[in-house]
Amino acid sequence: MNFDGPYSLYIHIPFCRHRCGYCDFNTYAGQEELIEAYISALCREIDLAAASAGEAVTAHTVFFGGGTPSLLPVVQIERVLNTIRRSFRLLPEAEISLEANPGTLSPKYLQDLRLVGVNRLSLGVQSANPTELRLLERQHEFGDVIRAVTWARRAGFDNLNLDLIFGLPGQRLETWQRTLENALRLNPDHLALYALTLEHGTPFGRWAERGLLAEPDPDVAAGMYELASEWLAEGGFEQYEISNWGRRMPGGDVLACRHNLQYWRNLPYLGFGAGAHGYAADFRTANVLAPAAYIRRCNSSWDPKSAFPRTPATNSLETIAEKTEMGETMMMGLRLTREGVGEEIFLRRFGRSLEAVYGQEIGKLQELGLLEWAGNGKRRLRLTPRGRLLGNQVFYRFI
Ligand code: SF4
Repeated sequence: MNFDGPYSLYIHIPFCRHRCGYCDFNTYAGQEELIEAYISALCREIDLAAASAGEAVTAHTVFFGGGTPSLLPVVQIERVLNTIRRSFRLLPEAEISLEANPGTLSPKYLQDLRLVGVNRLSLGVQSANPTELRLLERQHEFGDVIRAVTWARRAGFDNLNLDLIFGLPGQRLETWQRTLENALRLNPDHLALYALTLEHGTPFGRWAERGLLAEPDPDVAAGMYELASEWLAEGGFEQYEISNWGRRMPGGDVLACRHNLQYWRNLPYLGFGAGAHGYAADFRTANVLAPAAYIRRCNSSWDPKSAFPRTPATNSLETIAEKTEMGETMMMGLRLTREGVGEEIFLRRFGRSLEAVYGQEIGKLQELGLLEWAGNGKRRLRLTPRGRLLGNQVFYRFI
């Protein structure tokens, strides 16, 4: 271990009731009978990773992502959290997030989630329009979202995110506007807005290749993004990442997702579960994908002294050289639209200044109006508003 700050822990739950046509996450429908064995395997992986670290690892965020983590009974979530509390030094003020499908929730489920320590809920809303929800093959209606938010507030969740998707085939600006209006009316604390991409290997990707589904129009999608930026700013939200907005807090801070900030700041995290990725001790790791194979691997014999951050589920391990780490720090840090990449933080981390390493690239991107320096005294390099729309043109220059 070469990092003394707190880690983040990602827990992947690869089960869904139905596989949506656009989804390319590592998730499986019809394998719910594996859940119990999967959770046992997950707890074993967590224990083994902590044991191989050789010293107690402090964690400040836990994120249950998927898949559909809300398919798990609360006792299974509690089991995982208890394992983490036993194996890691989980800070008392840790952010513990769980992704939930609005159609899978009940008042009792949400109350129990709060009781076991989950304090941030992320709802996969995607759209308020019934036709769009059907197109996406989502298993909920917007009415489920309204009920879920009401129950979540009553259960004491005061950190609530809504995920929305824009740029759908055939989507009009008006329906997107209505989705935003409906989402804002629910008074969330955080919003994540994603542009739909038609990925190869998904049903949506195949239909688009055969001409059966119109490709999303990038100009319309850009218009939707700009509309959202204006509306959310008026609605009391501050954009802090290309796709993420948090409620403006008294004192000027933004209620950001602390777990995702760890990724964007290119800081260490451990990923547990089938297909989970991790980044620790100069390695990027990826776990075996299929839940059944994951369970088998975790139950196999394993020397707990094996080098951190490897576990029996690790399928690939890539050493991250310093040059790559610098490029990734730029690529991810520049996604942070307010914070950007701090000059001093970069210098402290790598012993070289941003100008010394990337002076040429920064100069060119400034000339193109895509990057700017911000901050008085402590300078931060960040995207301009135009750069936010053309982020990929900026990122590739650093990797
Ligand atoms: S519910 Fe989410 S994770 Fe599951 S298939 Fe649909 S989009 Fe993918």
